Amino acid sequence: MTGKGKRTNLVHGGSKRSQWNEVSEAIFLTQGFVYDSAEAAEARFLQAGPDEFIYARYGNPTVAMFEERMALLEGTEDAFATASGMAAVNGALTSMLRAGDHVVSSRALFGSCLYILEEVLTRYGVEVSFVDGADLDQWRAAIRPDTKAVFFESMSNPTLELVDIEAVSELAHAVGALVVVDNVFSTPVYSKAVEQGADIIVYSATKHIDGQGRALGGVILASKEHIRGVVEPYMKHTGGSMSPFTAWVMLKGLETIDLRVRAQTANAQAIAEAAEGHAKLANLIYPGAPSHPQHDLAMRQIGAGGTMLALDIKGGKDAAFKFLNALDIILISNNLGDAKSIATHPATTTHQRLTPEQRATLGIGDGLVRLSVGIEDSADLVTDILQALSQV
Ligand SMILES: *Cc1c(COP(=O)(O)O)cnc(C)c1O
Repeated sequence: MTGKGKRTNLVHGGSKRSQWNEVSEAIFLTQGFVYDSAEAAEARFLQAGPDEFIYARYGNPTVAMFEERMALLEGTEDAFATASGMAAVNGALTSMLRAGDHVVSSRALFGSCLYILEEVLTRYGVEVSFVDGADLDQWRAAIRPDTKAVFFESMSNPTLELVDIEAVSELAHAVGALVVVDNVFSTPVYSKAVEQGADIIVYSATKHIDGQGRALGGVILASKEHIRGVVEPYMKHTGGSMSPFTAWVMLKGLETIDLRVRAQTANAQAIAEAAEGHAKLANLIYPGAPSHPQHDLAMRQIGAGGTMLALDIKGGKDAAFKFLNALDIILISNNLGDAKSIATHPATTTHQRLTPEQRATLGIGDGLVRLSVGIEDSADLVTDILQALSQV
């Protein structure tokens, strides 16, 4: 039951009903499946059909519904659901790379992504070159005839710098390298990554897909050939598969993701408009604001400003902490993409592990506060931000 429109597919796409004809997708909390005969078991292990399952690490009906709905949303042929966003990033990269391969990656990465590129891949003999993701000349100089893959976050955490998917894909494809995009901040609602050239798209489903702070999950999206030929063998044998219960939570999240993300974006836009130029702010970073250095690229690439913004508060850590502690509605936490608005101080939490020099390179100052904007009333959020700023 699939339609042409995105919202129809988000509600109905991938649904399969049992003999009871339930309305809400069933949770198949089973690790295994019974065969009618020994011959049937033998045949299924030889070649499982589309609706035939063997073991939940390989696949499960509830997980398959989530994968199909995600593939419809992103516009890829296929998808593999994973236990977390990091299982997706790790699986997307390690499933296709081997010792001696060369990878080019943007430098501005989520801490755990950086760990995989910097520590894990290199440990197994993969050579990784880092570039400033916004600088196409650096990509051009770093991509070599033997480069196997490029990796980047299409919108970086927490400074909201964009990488031009179309331009980097063109450079990568010229040498036959695959383009792997961590698209969390862009969200699957706004993503046009497939038409822009991405080969493999990765999401942490923990963020906007759940969107209600309940479960960890992830997904790898690509062609059927790549998912079934490269990703699935690696994932099913190494254990990073999604649980059926999580898949059900994510299916419910997908039903409302378009409504939530658009409401969150409208709220982020309202906050940016109300707070831009505030006397207590050294800078406000929001891709939807014309002041963002890559505003045009944001409009071309995802057609929206997104659900995240960053406030650089004058006065460093003390001022940032005063602001955070003065917030009334907005929570201090470190998730993002949630229905609840959340504020984070990257320098002392998510990016604490980096040296002050590394943070400076990435533009993560002591006054920087990352804001994940929720679906509350925009007037309440604007009031909260302004009253907290006034207390700095
Ligand atoms: C959160 C996040 C991840 C990791 O996802 P988990 O679900 O926490 O494992 C990876 N990349 C980006 C950009 C993220 O924001």
